[in-house]
Amino acid sequence: MEKGELTQKWRAMSEEIISGVAEWRQQHPKATFREIEAEVDQRLSEMRARMLSDAAIVSASADWEGSEEQPKCPHCGAELQAKGKKKRKMQTRGGQEIALEREYGICPKCGQGIFPPG
Ligand SMILES: [Zn+2]
Repeated sequence: MEKGELTQKWRAMSEEIISGVAEWRQQHPKATFREIEAEVDQRLSEMRARMLSDAAIVSASADWEGSEEQPKCPHCGAELQAKGKKKRKMQTRGGQEIALEREYGICPKCGQGIFPPG
């Protein structure tokens, strides 16, 4: 994804959140501070997860396909053999699960399947 595309996507997403919170506030005029906080946190953590996943996809494709250097096995240093893409589930610090499509490789020495770091 291009930088401009990402910016556009995230801007649209943040505007959605801003107007969503404003709308929610109108529908909940008696909400307590804690309720408002929970609502804002919830929406922001969704945005956070989507941003993370979008940004991570960008770096993953740059790392593996873009560079000459093959990712290496973290255990023995052998070059990984690319095995295509696989979904990798990651947990954000906010506790949300995101599934990333990442390049997946097998170490020819250890025989272990590895998602290169990044
Ligand atoms: Zn290895």
